[in-house]
Amino acid sequence: MDNLHTSTGLNIQNFAGSSEFSFIQQDITVPMDIAAERIYNLACPASPVHYQLDPVRTVKTSVLGTINVLEIARKYGSRILQASTSEVYGNPQVHPQPESYWGNVNPIGKRSCYDEGKRCAETLFYDYRRQFEVDIRVARIFNTYGPGMALQDGRVIGNFILQALSGEDITLYGDGSQTRCFCYVSDMVNGLMALMESDISQPVNLGNPVEISMGRLAEEIITLTDSSSAISYQPLPEDDPLRRKPNIALAESRLDWRPSVSLATGLAETIRYFKTLTEGE
Ligand code: UDP
Repeated sequence: MDNLHTSTGLNIQNFAGSSEFSFIQQDITVPMDIAAERIYNLACPASPVHYQLDPVRTVKTSVLGTINVLEIARKYGSRILQASTSEVYGNPQVHPQPESYWGNVNPIGKRSCYDEGKRCAETLFYDYRRQFEVDIRVARIFNTYGPGMALQDGRVIGNFILQALSGEDITLYGDGSQTRCFCYVSDMVNGLMALMESDISQPVNLGNPVEISMGRLAEEIITLTDSSSAISYQPLPEDDPLRRKPNIALAESRLDWRPSVSLATGLAETIRYFKTLTEGE
């Protein structure tokens, strides 16, 4: 199910003919009735540009939408996994972030619609577990990238690659010293499926612990694309976390999961993907 708010449906074209696949175009804030054994709730725009465009709708997606899917899980006894986020840690004062950290989140800023919406979704998951014994899994997903991203994604990897490919200036926010850790999409999907089939009901961080500054990322992408782009320094957005890095000890020990795709390999694949997309335009 997808309302195609931030996508075009291109990513599911390969499955469209399969009898094992069906697609419902619907917004999850509209109640649904589907007998499911497993539910992965990944609904909600994750790019700051997209989720800040209509912040009230973002909160509704994470709160009303999550209630709707939890009601399905309660009714049919489904196991349900929530795609939570490293944003629950806000601008972290503990580094790297373990699952036990409660975070440092601004409740009234521009990112709050996403951060607090996702935090409330986690609250709902644990309340449905305590109150109705729903079988829950919660993944805290750190920055993830790879083929399949929207052209207009607006997050750093997509922006830098598109800018580098077209020779435009690279828009580096702040002084570029802020850090992130980037997990390749296939690693993330493996982690989500391993968590779903595990017996772990506490939140689990999923992400690649290799940390890189945005300045360094810009340089790497310029090199990999052999680009002539220059770097243009832009203001750092409000509440932009300065450092972020997952502690993945829990996923390593309980799921035997760790990322296997290096940033260089993942970026090369993603650059190839964006090239195909832009050439097809
Ligand atoms: N960023 C940047 N230029 C861009 C987009 C993002 O320098 O064109 C920075 C942003 O300020 C943040 C980091 O890259 O520090 C990651 O931003 P993104 O929007 O990808 O995701 P976030 O982790 O902030 O949700």
